[in-house]
Amino acid sequence: MSLFEQQNAEFQGRHIGPTADEVQQMLSTIGVDSLESLIGKTIPQSIRMQDSLDLPGPVSEYDYLKRIKEVSLDNKVFKTYIGQGYYNTIVPSVILRNVFENPGWYTQYTPYQAEISQGRLESLLNYQTMISDLTGLPIANASLLDEATAAAEAMAMFFSTLNKNASNITRPKFFVDNYIFPQTKDVLVTRALPIGIELVFGDYQSAEIDQTYFGAIVQYPNSQGSVEDYAAFIHKVHDAGAYVVMATDLLALTLLKSPGELGADAACGSAQRFGVPLGFGGPHAAFFTVKDEFKRTIPGRIIGISVDSQGNKALRMALQTREQHIKREKATSNICTAQALLANMAAMYAVFHGPKGLKAIADRVNVLADSLADALQTLGAELINKSFFDTLTVKVNNKEAVLAAAGAAGINFRITKEGYIGISLDETTSPKDILDIVAVFNTTDNTAAGITVANEATYENIPVSLHRNSPYLTHPVFNTHHSETQMMRYMKKLENKDLSLNTSMISLGSCTMKLNAATEMMPLSWSHWSSIHPFAPKTQVAGYHQMIDELSRYLCAITAFDACSLQPNSGAQGEYAGLLTIRNYFNARGESHRTVMLIPISAHGTNPASAVMAGMKVVVVKALENGYIDVDDLKAKAEQYKDNLAGIMITYPSTYGIFEESVKDITQIIHQYGGQVYMDGANMNAQVGLTAPGLIGADVCHLNLHKTFAIPHGGGGPGMGPICVKAHLAPYLPSHIEEDNSSKEAYDAVSAAPFGSASILLISHAYISMLGGEGVKNATQYAILNANYMRARLEKEFDILYLGNNGTCAHEFIVDLRPFKKTAEIEAEDVAKRLMDYGFHAPTMSFPVPGTIMIEPTESENKAELDRFCDALLSIREEIRAIENNQMDKADNPLKNAPHTQFMITATDWAHAYTREQAAYPLEFIKENKFWPSVGRVNNTVGDRNLICTCEPVEAYMES
Ligand SMILES: *Cc1c(COP(=O)(O)O)cnc(C)c1O
Repeated sequence: MSLFEQQNAEFQGRHIGPTADEVQQMLSTIGVDSLESLIGKTIPQSIRMQDSLDLPGPVSEYDYLKRIKEVSLDNKVFKTYIGQGYYNTIVPSVILRNVFENPGWYTQYTPYQAEISQGRLESLLNYQTMISDLTGLPIANASLLDEATAAAEAMAMFFSTLNKNASNITRPKFFVDNYIFPQTKDVLVTRALPIGIELVFGDYQSAEIDQTYFGAIVQYPNSQGSVEDYAAFIHKVHDAGAYVVMATDLLALTLLKSPGELGADAACGSAQRFGVPLGFGGPHAAFFTVKDEFKRTIPGRIIGISVDSQGNKALRMALQTREQHIKREKATSNICTAQALLANMAAMYAVFHGPKGLKAIADRVNVLADSLADALQTLGAELINKSFFDTLTVKVNNKEAVLAAAGAAGINFRITKEGYIGISLDETTSPKDILDIVAVFNTTDNTAAGITVANEATYENIPVSLHRNSPYLTHPVFNTHHSETQMMRYMKKLENKDLSLNTSMISLGSCTMKLNAATEMMPLSWSHWSSIHPFAPKTQVAGYHQMIDELSRYLCAITAFDACSLQPNSGAQGEYAGLLTIRNYFNARGESHRTVMLIPISAHGTNPASAVMAGMKVVVVKALENGYIDVDDLKAKAEQYKDNLAGIMITYPSTYGIFEESVKDITQIIHQYGGQVYMDGANMNAQVGLTAPGLIGADVCHLNLHKTFAIPHGGGGPGMGPICVKAHLAPYLPSHIEEDNSSKEAYDAVSAAPFGSASILLISHAYISMLGGEGVKNATQYAILNANYMRARLEKEFDILYLGNNGTCAHEFIVDLRPFKKTAEIEAEDVAKRLMDYGFHAPTMSFPVPGTIMIEPTESENKAELDRFCDALLSIREEIRAIENNQMDKADNPLKNAPHTQFMITATDWAHAYTREQAAYPLEFIKENKFWPSVGRVNNTVGDRNLICTCEPVEAYMES
């Protein structure tokens, strides 16, 4: 390589952990002589990729930033008044810098290990409290993917509540008011069809609701901006025994009577305008609240209050086993990854502004809307909505002239389907902006009409019955941290309680917690990427389209497929979109009866959940003793269901971390019986550049960009789950109402925005661009190297479950901890908690096998870090041995008491048979970088028995 080629390839050395010297030592520990021979032993020759990946060569970080800056300038930042659930917002700088751009917040894993996650758990509890207060409903989850899918989740929840018996649907109908956001309507259509829900569109005022309905949705304020009083309608729906969800707006709710007070059973919407950039569609947190009766059926994660081993208050994810997708084929939702990071940002926005600050923002928006309404009416415009918070819909005679003037002035309005002009104001709108809008409407007269902006909100344009009188955000956390110093310290205090990738490796099997490089993240903060509305005219988003087209091509090359949809917002959404694509393909061929989906027993819970949502019938395929799919059972089931076979969902390498040699036989059998092969791409980090879904015979796959392609996990989201397909499926990929896809009769959107959480696609684009074809392939090889090195170090002391025929694992492996239950009464959880004392996050627990941990180191960790982790596990093995040998008590030992907090270690009393040093510093390296869990072991049952999922009322604090 020349000096300059070396410079271009430099990023590889930054992304991949082991150095050349370390590789030699690691190979010799494994007992192979080269990386190529390790890969040869691990991946069956029959499916190896022969050619190198067709990707552009690597570029340096510096060059990438320069280029992507240029591309960004092809996006035009217009002043946008398009609204419809997406608004300009001011991200407080203190939050931008300390949360959004801070790896201490964005590299965290989902808070399953509560003791080292108390910071984000507190922030998510703040989020739930904020949502619950503003919507006036008691139970909130910790975010969903976007407003449209949140509405669909409410619909599905109501449907299954009132139609308990799936084979006898007595209430198939769901009423949809005409004035909900168009993209929400679209997603409802998509989600309703496969599960037999009948949507009835109409005007809520004249709707006849009878006992064939299970529910209804209305928008508050509606898509025209009108603030409607739905109280009587809700009564009517309740009289028919059905439920109502109100899609709503958090900023408006600071002024409007809450959905709970109006009698709604659920509320949903987007928290985007609470300080999260537009980003051409996302990522943003959607919110979801319900009445108490739905607390066990609400989809998504809920943070709850419990106690720790010391009797102190501690937070945890509540009702974890109730997580919808864990119910597999009994699930009514597949939600897994959500939008935790963005929920945290929105919560911090409320902490920063407080109730008074939020209301002041809402007042300003409302006053400006009021002035604008007056001015436009003076100019002769007809106001279509008589009431409003921030949005006006107007009818004018000089529409074409107005739109031309707006274009010239760099202003975007919305054109409604009736041809009216919609204008949504927001936090960034100034009195000067109102003058500019008025000038655009004033096409005949050059003298701009004067406007007067009131100094105080009168709420004259909000029906009196809907004025908000109930308090919100009274909790101290929303009334304390209003100076920047306090705010900065509050965020830092929480950050310090959480173990993130900036502390140590997080070896989460199946979740691929690799480096999220700073250069990959930086463009997200640039306004030419962040300030673009998802429904901006196509002519203004050429930069986005270029980046998206390039990324689509890269992903097609990597998967050996032909077409790609970047719409799904998570892996599970990708599964759903992929299965719908299969379904639509069969429907088009007149084979709509093909609905049986085979799913191996080891599959992730989202697989069966997604299949059921796509209207498919799940048939489980057995596994063999060695973890391979039982091909005989598969053949028998494929034969049995051949007339109705839709296909199979496989994960490859399997969730057991092995490349099955039989995979091509499997895909062949399915094709032979007329089915399609869906590949779950969660383990793509073991395939890139070495093999591909297209090469093993799959027809469609999703990719978790937040696993393999460097999007950070964000503490439980954001994510992106694009799907790639073979050519024959391409016509059936999801489409979107906002794309000029006029060839399609029916839209089948799976997300609110055409490209899902478009702005974070930049991260994967940067990752692939900077590594290039060789680099991404090397990332895979080093991921497999790192996993096998750890396996080789650990297998002398632990049973490793399931290895390939040559004794190697793929990019992850499963350590069996079940034997220690018999020999020492030690559970997998004890080992997980003890790892915290060594400064590590536990690997994936009890998936896919209960009582085990699954370790996935990724390519980004170097040998020293892998060694520290192995040393920790081996040291824990010695601690277990001491229990086995009766040198340590079965009940009182460092594992059962783990994790040990600073408070426990420094307490005057120390009643244990082992020393404080053994407890807190069991190995030398820990002294260098001690991470203290902020609470002792969290009690799982107390929290579930007594579910509290909002901040406790102020009185609770005053007592303590
Ligand atoms: C992570 C994962 C999923 C789900 O992806 P989300 O982005 O969390 O929805 C599905 N299957 C497997 C095997 C996974 O590891």
